[in-house]
Amino acid sequence: MRIVESIARMQQLTRSLPRPVVLVPTMGALHEGHLALVDHAKKLVGRKGSTVVTIFVNPPQFGPREDYRKYPRPFKRDCLLLQNRGCDLVFAPTAANMYKPDASVTVMESQLQTVMCGASRPGHFVGVCTVVTKLFHLVQPDIAIFGEKDFQQLTILRRMVRDLNFPVRIVARPIVREPDGLALSSRNVFLSAEERQQAPLIHQALRDAENKLRLQSVSLRALENLIRRRIERASRAKVDYVAVVDPDTLQAKEPRNLPVLLAAAVFFGSTRLIDNVLVK
Ligand code: AMP
Repeated sequence: MRIVESIARMQQLTRSLPRPVVLVPTMGALHEGHLALVDHAKKLVGRKGSTVVTIFVNPPQFGPREDYRKYPRPFKRDCLLLQNRGCDLVFAPTAANMYKPDASVTVMESQLQTVMCGASRPGHFVGVCTVVTKLFHLVQPDIAIFGEKDFQQLTILRRMVRDLNFPVRIVARPIVREPDGLALSSRNVFLSAEERQQAPLIHQALRDAENKLRLQSVSLRALENLIRRRIERASRAKVDYVAVVDPDTLQAKEPRNLPVLLAAAVFFGSTRLIDNVLVK
């Protein structure tokens, strides 16, 4: 497995990587959720192609009071995990190399980013679209894989690829969970024992709402309230948002017509967790 930090070296290598090239962008601190994406990449590349994983904690997608500095960076461990999973190349540039001090060009999606995480984290998705654009240019993948855990990110990146004609196919993969239902996340390590114990309530609340929706007709507001109240039973939980939306447009939608996306963001202390359930 090659480990590349230099941008110039990556650009040079890109020209000779065996195709298809399948890219899995990450911020590192890898867990089985990330590794499931890598396993799927391996399947897609077959015997001939190349699996590329990027590890980059991207400063512009963090708000000024967010956890950029304390975000975990166990780089050696990540590389070992990736080597064991048969990854071919890790690209891990430094922030200083990715962004010149006077960088002034960004990529902005303007509709889908106005709701949910985009509303709570202004500028977050501009940071995401800009870095994914840069990674697409540097690695030139045929396929890029993203997790449904970050559903809004996935929707926005699909829109970006469509609207800007990137020659990349986006593939989505399901959320990997702990046995108690908590979605795997690099941020779960920040949870105290008590918070960790309460955190699966997010998924339970979304699942309960899904079950209710399947059994009886229920309004958008009633469903949102149900999810919110259920999560707030956890003494440490502070709900950031609950959304019942159309999975393509991310606009609020009466859940009579499926599919509908049930999504939530919840603070446990300063740790912000997100989760969702797609009801088809
Ligand atoms: P991150 O390192 O948090 O930026 O995530 C990198 C990629 O892994 C994104 O496409 C995420 O959606 C995906 N991902 C993170 N957690 C999970 C999970 N629990 N299950 C599936 N995919 C995930």
